[in-house]
Amino acid sequence: MNTVKSKEAYKKACELMPGGVNSPVRAFKSVGGNPVFIQKGKGARVWDIDGNEYIDFVASWGPLILGHARDEVVEAIQKTAVDGTSFGAPTLLENEMAELIIRMVPSVEKVRMVSSGTEATMSALRLARGYTQRDKVIKFAGCYHGHADSFLIQAGSGAMTFGLPDSPGVTKAAAQDTLIASYNDLASVEKLFEDNDGQIAAVIVEPIPGNMGVIPPAPGFLEGLRALTSRYGALLIFDEVITGFRLSTGGAQQFLGITPDLTTMGKIIGGGLPVGAFGGHAEIMNHLAPEGAVYQAGTLSGNPLAMAAGKAALQILKNDPGIYKRVEAKAVRLEEGLRNNLEKAGVPAVINRVGGMMTLFFNDQGQVTNFEQAGKSDTKRYAAFFKKMLENGIYLAPSQFECTFVSDAHTEEDIDRLIEVSEKVLKEI
Ligand code: PMP
Repeated sequence: MNTVKSKEAYKKACELMPGGVNSPVRAFKSVGGNPVFIQKGKGARVWDIDGNEYIDFVASWGPLILGHARDEVVEAIQKTAVDGTSFGAPTLLENEMAELIIRMVPSVEKVRMVSSGTEATMSALRLARGYTQRDKVIKFAGCYHGHADSFLIQAGSGAMTFGLPDSPGVTKAAAQDTLIASYNDLASVEKLFEDNDGQIAAVIVEPIPGNMGVIPPAPGFLEGLRALTSRYGALLIFDEVITGFRLSTGGAQQFLGITPDLTTMGKIIGGGLPVGAFGGHAEIMNHLAPEGAVYQAGTLSGNPLAMAAGKAALQILKNDPGIYKRVEAKAVRLEEGLRNNLEKAGVPAVINRVGGMMTLFFNDQGQVTNFEQAGKSDTKRYAAFFKKMLENGIYLAPSQFECTFVSDAHTEEDIDRLIEVSEKVLKEI
């Protein structure tokens, strides 16, 4: 594979941007490679600037459940752009988008749009604190909720990838108010509630974590969180930035039948444009300015292009809920093929999959149910796997602690190609 142009571009980028990138994991650092610079994408494929073609299983880290440059989404952006790209004033598109979200996500009665997942979680936490008049928050080791200070404590995703789960620059005061529990361990949450009675504003959780790799919730775990938060007067925040609109039109909460107080959204909701949102009971949401006293704002919030792209994507999902069955069927095919190949190659591994999100952990623990177990994965072996898959035209996440995303744009042939390539690669690593 010839990647001369990407190598040159990365060298230049490193002179211009810290680490050559605008978001850490993109640098391929943890897998020891040189990132490929992407020229364009269509459907399930991307092409780099050297002309190499890849089947893409990263999907921009989640947003592209419909694939790259889906016609309806591109047309909506083009049509909207002609009439102006930002007003900082109300538009009908915002009403339409809010109505769609409220109709699709069971627990959301009112919603506010923002421009990223980080903004959504950061704002939801401030609202929870303002509403309950309490300061502390419980998060889970290995869950990632964006890069706001309160969440960079034992964080997953890139922070875990680079061994930086606690970031310099987060003040002791901020860190003190974030209490850490272990995912799938209800007793660890109960203990924090007992020790901090009357002080906990919220529990925030990725209902199905994707940022320490995919981890399914143990039976009763999320129900237990619901019961504990209600008992102690704290809010339950589902961070559905990855799971929203991915497992069903109503996200993990609908898929699992649990009702959180607040929900944060991102990725798919923007159809590939920078969009986030948070929403919940009207009574809680009405504490936001200008109706209430909790301040939150954004010059580009509800931006017309972002609303147009998001609306187009959500409408496709709403009108064709069969997408979720199709995506899952392909993901099952992928999981089975990989299991087969791993067995044949004698490589110890754990595959966790929920719907169309999946992680293959190079891990000999027998199971991966939390941050500690995920952390015992063989990241060197993952790096070797990643590199050889890439060289063979399969674009996977450049980190062990992320998801493989199957989209509606993947064909069965795309899935079979990944399986075929992995059979060869697993024998070589
Ligand atoms: N929450 C979760 C669950 C996420 O996966 C992410 C991003 N990976 C975020 C929040 C932050 O979103 P963004 O990168 O758009 O700020």
